[in-house]
Amino acid sequence: MRRLLRVNLSKGITKEEDIPQKIQNDFVGARGFCARYLYDEVKPNIDPLGSQNKLFLTVGPMAGTSAQAFSKWIAVTKSPLTNTYTRSVGGGDFGAWMKWAGFELMIIEGKTAKPSYLFIKDGKYEIMDAAPIWGKTTSETQGYLKKVHGPKARMVCVGPAAEKLVRFGPIISGERAAGRGGTGTVMASKNLKAVVIVADRKEDIANPAEFKKLVQEQVKAMKAGLGYGVFKEYGTVQGLDYFYPVFGSIPMKNWRYGELPNWPENIGMWPFSKITIDHVGCYACSLKCGKIRQVPNGPYKGLTVEGPQFEGAWVFSGPTGCTDTNATLVCNHICAEQGLDVISTGNSIGFAYELFEKGILTTKDTDGLVLKYGDPEPMIALVKKIAAREGLGDILAEGVKRASERIGKSAEQYAMHVKGLETPGYDPRARKAMGLNWALSNMGANHNFGWPQQEIGDPKPRLLDPTQDEGQGDVIKWNHDSTAALELSVACIFPSHHLQLYDHELIGKLLAATTGVPEFASVDYQFLVGEKVYNLERCFNVRDGFSRKDDKLPRRFLTEPLKGGVRDGEVIRTPDKIIDQYYQLRGWDSNGIPSRETLVRLGIGEVDKDIAKFRK
Ligand code: SF4
Repeated sequence: MRRLLRVNLSKGITKEEDIPQKIQNDFVGARGFCARYLYDEVKPNIDPLGSQNKLFLTVGPMAGTSAQAFSKWIAVTKSPLTNTYTRSVGGGDFGAWMKWAGFELMIIEGKTAKPSYLFIKDGKYEIMDAAPIWGKTTSETQGYLKKVHGPKARMVCVGPAAEKLVRFGPIISGERAAGRGGTGTVMASKNLKAVVIVADRKEDIANPAEFKKLVQEQVKAMKAGLGYGVFKEYGTVQGLDYFYPVFGSIPMKNWRYGELPNWPENIGMWPFSKITIDHVGCYACSLKCGKIRQVPNGPYKGLTVEGPQFEGAWVFSGPTGCTDTNATLVCNHICAEQGLDVISTGNSIGFAYELFEKGILTTKDTDGLVLKYGDPEPMIALVKKIAAREGLGDILAEGVKRASERIGKSAEQYAMHVKGLETPGYDPRARKAMGLNWALSNMGANHNFGWPQQEIGDPKPRLLDPTQDEGQGDVIKWNHDSTAALELSVACIFPSHHLQLYDHELIGKLLAATTGVPEFASVDYQFLVGEKVYNLERCFNVRDGFSRKDDKLPRRFLTEPLKGGVRDGEVIRTPDKIIDQYYQLRGWDSNGIPSRETLVRLGIGEVDKDIAKFRK
């Protein structure tokens, strides 16, 4: 029987529960389970940082097995940044350990009276005193917990920034983060510093012979796949050299420009490759896309960090115009240590640089910092200030949406976010399906909620021209449903969706062999469940008042043509046509509310009573 662990921090009670067979069949796993339990158990209009919010940690059925790239874990909650549903995916070993401990889902509810951490070993659960680690960095915390619980312990934790309720604190494991939407801030708001698991490897496979055969097929497909070698060698930063010259989609100086001097000579896969000293990855993944890098010279010489990945490299260079490789390592390191989402942090800093240029902020607001494009020191100083909630950092720690409201003076027109979630490193004017993926996403501007691979040459379900003004709603829907389907088993998005090294068919067979449920092998069934999950997450937001008015992009993308680069002059012209097409294909009304027929078709008709009043 597949199980969950319920942890009530207020009462100090832990309880193992079987996941009912109907939920297993209807929602398959991981993100599917979270959608069901979140909708049922987190009531409308609660405060995301109050004790009524719940935090869900989940893994898929293949976590901790020899299947490649299935051991990542997902955090789901109501976001303190956006007030919407949010989900964030983390890597490392923790997912394998969680599965070995016997669970595919942890539901963490309530709040402890004092800082605590949860310790799991041999079927026993203890809520322990976190006084020695509260306020400590993530490496100090993990070092301490390993010392106390031994080398077999694996953990997730939050950093000091989340403890200070910076709204975009991630949950960290090693140096990998479930970064987006403030899942770590929710964990810290519950006074929960860490979850530690000691467990031994075990595989629980319904059909071991078939499973072994399928894993061999998967390994073979991966190694033979186009892109495997380059991705393994350079990791995600390879995209810096590709998206800049071919797509002109790397945003510069707070989404005004499509070009920047010294790019990608300074910020690209070659400069990062020169300072890479090791390759690391998640449990059972030969791609090892994590890169250990070392600062070779200058004031931070010798600093050794895992990263940056593509987003961390871009966000601490493009937005501030600082093409200093070492500075990107430093900023990423501070984010990992203090517990900050790199995208939201760097985006907030880019926003501040533009406000400073326009005179909306002055040195009186920045504690004397001169936010000059190209100068990395104020950027580094602001990362530290955000983590400490000090001076301007205290305002930026609220995220650009709230910060712009607080600053006033028309600052909101420079705040780049969707539903409050800061935009990642792709200019939607240069990649329009990417932009509409954000606008229509259940969690705001997340590139990996429905990455439009079709803009860069994937013919499934059909190719897209990145600059086409309308007609791509069907592909955006396909990507949203496909990603939700992949995350029923927490299949890592890189080998499956981005590199297309294997597909839903193989994943379905692995799911069926692991769980013993033959229906899971069907690609149609996976997409149907993905669609159901997407709609249920949408209904969670609708119940809190979200609708079409929130499915929008920042005005800049609609009114200011992109300056420079290969997509010079591009602008998003007809977003409403794409949104209308998407709603129609989804079976939603013109206000973006799922119709009763759609909910019934998907087997979640019972939620109609909650959302009917929001229809037009
Ligand atoms: S590709 Fe990278 S993120 Fe994905 S499982 Fe492998 S190492 Fe982890």
